[in-house]
Amino acid sequence: MTGGAASEVTEVTEVIPAAEVSRQIGETIREAGPADASGAGGRPRPHRPRFTARSMYHVQRLVRPNGLYRRFAARLESVPLLRRLFTAAEEKVKADLFGCRMCGQCALPVTGYACPMSCPKQMRNGPCGGVGADGGCEVYPELRCVWLEAYDRAAGQGRAADLSRLQRPIDHRIWGQSSWVNYWQGRDEGLWTDALWADDALWTNADGALTLPDIQHDLVVIDR
Ligand code: SF4
Repeated sequence: MTGGAASEVTEVTEVIPAAEVSRQIGETIREAGPADASGAGGRPRPHRPRFTARSMYHVQRLVRPNGLYRRFAARLESVPLLRRLFTAAEEKVKADLFGCRMCGQCALPVTGYACPMSCPKQMRNGPCGGVGADGGCEVYPELRCVWLEAYDRAAGQGRAADLSRLQRPIDHRIWGQSSWVNYWQGRDEGLWTDALWADDALWTNADGALTLPDIQHDLVVIDR
């Protein structure tokens, strides 16, 4: 190859299996010490939602954006004190129910109402390669992986295909904002892709048990 950054010769020196990458990240988090049980403070820890997915899908229908909610959100945004009070109330309620960490761009409607930010690795597309054979989190083996929780909850309501959506990387500038206000104001549009598989039947085996696509992501290390 000749000149220019775009045509630099690179050489693959090592391929690290995804499971090894995941193990190393898990070890680093474990070494950092115990995490808080839930909520926006401290480090995340898998949280089991307090309400069934079924009940939350019902609530979801009631809070869909419409003109009324949009006007309400705009009013909240125009009065700083109101906005702060509303955001504090949201934080309190959602921390208790979902282990919400106030990322401000809520994924719950397509994760069976299990919060992906309560994953110790904060994986927005999961699970990672380190889930135990018993479904335990790699970092906190005594707790169930939030992504398995998400699959089970969504699949139980015929929504397993939601978990085939790709979640966009989050915008770290809006941590701490009210995700409800952002949702009603239409700022959440494009947070995730369409479902890659529309048919839940693709996700179940002959016994009706949930199966996941066998996708292996390896990290390729290149030497420049
Ligand atoms: S706003 Fe973010 S941190 Fe809170 S429940 Fe939704 S996804 Fe989780």
